[in-house]
Amino acid sequence: MPSDIRRKLGKTMKRKADILIIGAGVLGSATAMHLAEKGVRNIFVLDFDLEGQWSSSELNAGGVRATWNHPLNIEISRDSILYYESVASEVGYHPCGYLWLYPPSKWEGALASRERQIALGWDVEAWDVPELIKRRPFLDKTDDLAGAIFGKRDGLINPNRLKNHYRERARSLGVEFVDRVWFKRASYDGGKANLVFDQYWDAEIYQDSEFKKHLLTDAGSGSGASREVIFEADQVVNCAGAWAPEVAKGLGYPCPSKPVRRQISVFDCRDLDLRPYGMIVDASGVYFHPEATNGLAGFANAGEPEGRNFQYDGESFFTEYLWPALYERSSKFERLKHLTGWAGLYEVSPDDCGIVGTVEDPAGNVPAKRVFESHSFSGHGAMQSFAAGRGLAEKIVTGAYQTLDLDPLHASRFDQGRLIRESNII
Ligand SMILES: Cc1cc2nc3c(=O)[nH]c(=O)nc-3n(C[C@H](O)[C@H](O)[C@H](O)COP(=O)(O)OP(=O)(O)OC[C@H]3O[C@@H](n4cnc5c(N)ncnc54)[C@H](O)[C@@H]3O)c2cc1C
Repeated sequence: MPSDIRRKLGKTMKRKADILIIGAGVLGSATAMHLAEKGVRNIFVLDFDLEGQWSSSELNAGGVRATWNHPLNIEISRDSILYYESVASEVGYHPCGYLWLYPPSKWEGALASRERQIALGWDVEAWDVPELIKRRPFLDKTDDLAGAIFGKRDGLINPNRLKNHYRERARSLGVEFVDRVWFKRASYDGGKANLVFDQYWDAEIYQDSEFKKHLLTDAGSGSGASREVIFEADQVVNCAGAWAPEVAKGLGYPCPSKPVRRQISVFDCRDLDLRPYGMIVDASGVYFHPEATNGLAGFANAGEPEGRNFQYDGESFFTEYLWPALYERSSKFERLKHLTGWAGLYEVSPDDCGIVGTVEDPAGNVPAKRVFESHSFSGHGAMQSFAAGRGLAEKIVTGAYQTLDLDPLHASRFDQGRLIRESNII
């Protein structure tokens, strides 16, 4: 580091936090907001890139739905969406619905899930195929379908505005968000956690999105433009999304999740205006919804290898994975034209559901009740962020869940064989 910059930065100072959150995506920002609303002060949220250019909160499809199979997923999404409704204009929430198309083999299960959704206060309609054709006439290739489930209060949100909404509320209550710091490791001493970060002092480098991508791909290696800074914290929260396993390692405990690439394409839907419709999840697993005057579609390729890969495969992804399924569903989709797209990371847990709660490390590396986590929502973190943040804040502040019992999401479920059985994953 040049000596003038070293002088400018001065001596390394240890900053002190009551609660320090690593990761400022929707999960970290929501947790900070709820903690601050519960009266906790001296909260810091640290992120390598507050703008979040490569974060999952930036690169997702914006779907929000309570049409899940497992009761807890229904409830977490339901409570979150009720909140998004209450701040709809701020977070860009549109209750345009989720329409799920089912083949005969899955129809019975879908109807059973619908019963559960209704019992938990989520009004969901079941359409047989004639009703589906009446309500969505452009879906004119339905021979393989048994029916459809329509969650009319499900819909779309602007995840970036949601994240900023959480942040603004948190900031107004004194939460400090710190940019350009990369967490490396922690040690525990006298009940405190000492956390070491690399602080990237060269603002110009941050104009270069490839630089950020490089670090986020190679898990923090490879640049000299940094110096170490240390934070001391009473409690720490791992909200690092697809990077949660590395952050967990630095905090001293194992995390079973893995990052997996997911791609999204935007296409010109020349023969149909999709704007009156919400999200449609095809029986093939391909989902699509309007994106301004175009269409947006995605697909969770089961064969995608683990890894932090942000490479978008472009037209070949659209042609191989998306278009055939759309073509098979509607004659209006025969002339689609690929426009653009991107790739982001799912943070996938072993049962495709979020990991929330206190870190209990059987190896004894992490002192009790010092470290918490909320991550690995496996592609549905934006829609569940409000209730997940609320629950974790309750747990941290009072030692127990007050609204929804999130204990089933505790990481111990993987070792204890208490996996969450969820079938409505896309
Ligand atoms: C293609 C795609 C489509 C999706 N569609 C939907 C959808 O329709 N609906 C939905 O609800 N969800 C969807 N998701 C999932 C959703 O985006 C994520 O579940 C959610 O954004 C996770 O939020 P997060 O805060 O946990 O992680 P992130 O937003 O990724 O935030 C983690 C943050 O941690 C920071 N970080 C990581 N490591 C470190 C470190 N060592 N030091 C400092 N900072 C660090 C990163 O910079 C990042 O900003 C989709 C995801 C993708 C990729």
